[in-house]
Amino acid sequence: MHAVVEPEAAEPLPAVAAKTFPDWSPTEYAGETQAQTGGMFSGGTALPKNRHVPERSCVACGAKMPKSQLVRIVRTGQGPIIVDISGRESGRGAYLCHIPECWDRALGKGALERSFKQALSTQDLGPVRTYYESDIAPPATAP
Ligand SMILES: [Zn+2]
Repeated sequence: MHAVVEPEAAEPLPAVAAKTFPDWSPTEYAGETQAQTGGMFSGGTALPKNRHVPERSCVACGAKMPKSQLVRIVRTGQGPIIVDISGRESGRGAYLCHIPECWDRALGKGALERSFKQALSTQDLGPVRTYYESDIAPPATAP
């Protein structure tokens, strides 16, 4: 009578499955998975995607990127403008990306002047030029 046993065995299956799931404790399992994933990500380099990252545009090329990838240049008032490495100087800020061309434009073609709405002398741009020469300009083209 094997033919009779088969339908009988098929019927209890859903009931068994429903009974099995609570034993698996999905919540406990999820918590375990979360802990593992959290540990992996906190030590890794991946940034959480849903977290808001403030973006700024390079004043020369207009590329938008996270503030941390741009160099902030600040006009503190009168006098020279400064390269704000700490990102905490007060004053009107302008941002430049790390492309040497953009710094060329900022130093020579008025990109910063436009951004600050102020004429800048060679002296005013001194700190920017220094930073450009030491940190941005490719060594091969440096004088
Ligand atoms: Zn740029």
